Amino acid sequence: MRKTAPAAAAAKARSRRPAKAKSAAPAPASSLKSKLAKLGIQRDFDFVLHLPLRYEDETRLTPIAEAHAGAPVQVEGTVIASEIAYRPRRQLVCKIEDASGLLYMRFLHFYGSQAKALAPGARVRVFGEARPGFFGAEMVHPRYRIVGENTPLPRALTPVYPTTAGLPQATLRRLIENALAQSELDETLPAHIPARFGMPAFRDAIDALHHPRPGDDARPLSDRTHPAWQRMKLEELLAQQLSMRLHYRERRSKSAPALKQAGALTAALLTRLPFRLTRAQNRAWAEIERDLGEPHPMHRLLQGDVGSGKTVVAALAALRAVENGMQAVVMAPTEILAEQHYRKFSEWLAPIGVELTWLSGGQKKKERAAAAADIASGVTRVAVGTHALFQEGIAFQSLGLAIVDEQHRFGVEQRLALRAKGSSAGGAAGIEPHQMMMSATPIPRTLSMSYYADLDVSLIDELPPGRTPVTTKLIAAERRDEVLARVRDACREGRQAYWVCPLIEDSSLLPAAPARKTRTRGRGPGRVEASQLQSVIDTHARLAAEFADLKVGLVHGRLAAQDKAAVMADFAAGRIQLLVATTVIEVGVDVPNASLMIIEHAERFGLAQLHQLRGRVGRGVADSVCILLYQKPLGELARARLKVVYESTDGFEIARQDLLLRGPGEYLGVRQSGAPLLRFADIERDLDLLEAARDLAPQLLQHHPEFARRHLARWMAGKSELMKVY
Ligand code: ADP
Ligand code: MG
Repeated sequence: MRKTAPAAAAAKARSRRPAKAKSAAPAPASSLKSKLAKLGIQRDFDFVLHLPLRYEDETRLTPIAEAHAGAPVQVEGTVIASEIAYRPRRQLVCKIEDASGLLYMRFLHFYGSQAKALAPGARVRVFGEARPGFFGAEMVHPRYRIVGENTPLPRALTPVYPTTAGLPQATLRRLIENALAQSELDETLPAHIPARFGMPAFRDAIDALHHPRPGDDARPLSDRTHPAWQRMKLEELLAQQLSMRLHYRERRSKSAPALKQAGALTAALLTRLPFRLTRAQNRAWAEIERDLGEPHPMHRLLQGDVGSGKTVVAALAALRAVENGMQAVVMAPTEILAEQHYRKFSEWLAPIGVELTWLSGGQKKKERAAAAADIASGVTRVAVGTHALFQEGIAFQSLGLAIVDEQHRFGVEQRLALRAKGSSAGGAAGIEPHQMMMSATPIPRTLSMSYYADLDVSLIDELPPGRTPVTTKLIAAERRDEVLARVRDACREGRQAYWVCPLIEDSSLLPAAPARKTRTRGRGPGRVEASQLQSVIDTHARLAAEFADLKVGLVHGRLAAQDKAAVMADFAAGRIQLLVATTVIEVGVDVPNASLMIIEHAERFGLAQLHQLRGRVGRGVADSVCILLYQKPLGELARARLKVVYESTDGFEIARQDLLLRGPGEYLGVRQSGAPLLRFADIERDLDLLEAARDLAPQLLQHHPEFARRHLARWMAGKSELMKVY
């Protein structure tokens, strides 16, 4: 009834062939290997989990006359004419006919042998989508094969696998069959789990997905609602949850200094502040304070919309470390942001006698060596800077707390390095510092349940009083003159403005740029970026000419660190009235007197980015306005995206929409990194399974540790580290 046994036997019989090919011809084998690696296939078992993308129905023939655009079909006919045409370009055009009608097949790439085989009289079975063509219905590059008069039709659906250029379905299929025949498909879950959900056994699920049975309905297989798919999704989600649980356990089993002593410093800061903490800030601080008192490393995200006041909570936490005789470090992904923290911290901590040290990649060698010496000797109580703080040669005397602002802006590699260094920077053997992350980009619930399950979160869900919400305006670029008038008015009234240009800069690349040197090698600007940079410079020149009576500044990522810092300091001090900038000002920059922001080509920015940028205004008492300039015509998606930012000032709502529009890979910024994004499950669509997995994981670890271990080994081999991106 099922085709497992014969298929497996056939596969076994063939199984030695690929190995032989490998030894005989190493070059193609290694290129095969690299193609497979592109698909994420390294181990034998990866073939087993390389599941079809979709299924095609080749079990039936459709009369040619009934082949219409919109759905692929299979037809069969006899070649009645075949020719190589040269206009508009070289191509093979082949006319076939069945009892009902005529169809053209068109091949833009073909071999001579193909042209020969498709000679008049040949009988072909063709699979593809017919479209109306110049001469009649045609299929472009359909799949076809030459058949005999009575070649039987397949009895079941044909699986179609995700593949890559140069790796034909047939080859992939053969490799998968081999692997299936050789792999142990035993259970890694106790039987009651699949039974409870009405899911098949693992072996049966795998078999059902690779080998559809005659009569199987294509729909549930293709849209992944079939019970076999449900089983695979649960498997995958469970592996993710188990891995997160283990990270959590591992963390709880480690030691950190219990920063219990509440000394005079935190109290002194609170009394000296020109404002009172909001209720939400107090609550977040209480949660952090409790964690810091524990003898295990804290791993907590302080989340709050832009302007909610996370920095002061970070300062309190840093002081708590100092009060307990330990050091704290504050790191930001860009020089600009780190500088600003340094200024804020100096303002708050220096008067109460806390020794601060600045360290960044843009520093002179000598300054940096002096900073490193202070950090190592313990003169430094709080170090502030970029990720240069965690590079070779920087050792802390006794690090109690590491604070990372806008942590998700660091690249994945850097984040992993930060984690690793963070956990080895404690000094005393086996003692790790506490870790606190800050972010204004909220993590939607589904993501915090899945990717960030080993993360405690404190939320600042209210803005300090007296803020006037920013008014957002959408204005077409052709009305630029009106916008210029607004800028002039605002600046004449003593306020300041940002003019943001669409050069999206990867802030994670910025801090390391050496001072006084633009990078020309390695990751230097590509041509596109260079021309974009030129347009930023042009915009600055034009605006400076336009507003001859105003001081117009320019800041972008290619400036040397100290030039960037100087421009920002001038803007903060009011010496610059209009600041032309790229996205380098996106995170954290806090200049309360700036109340107007213009974003050019707003349609080119990400939603979270627009929200972050907009958060640079509305920080003072003046009514603030953010103008999104857009270029007509706007596509449908661009319009929808701008509408989200226009209608909402709630970072969570914007993030939710952003996640829906972009999907989790883009959202997390890990797509290119090869991090183990879920392959089968979709955290939004499969929320019920995600919730089930979250409940099952602790049960499995407690009652069936051996199953759990094997399950993780099967699904997470070599990937576990990457789950720690936060
Ligand atoms: P973010 O959460 O975006 O990092 P910041 O920490 O930069 O926000 O705070 C934004 C501004 O609000 C700063 O100027 C900060 O000093 C001020 N601020 C923070 N907390 C309060 C408060 N409770 N009341 C009034 N102003 C506050
Ligand atoms: Mg901030």
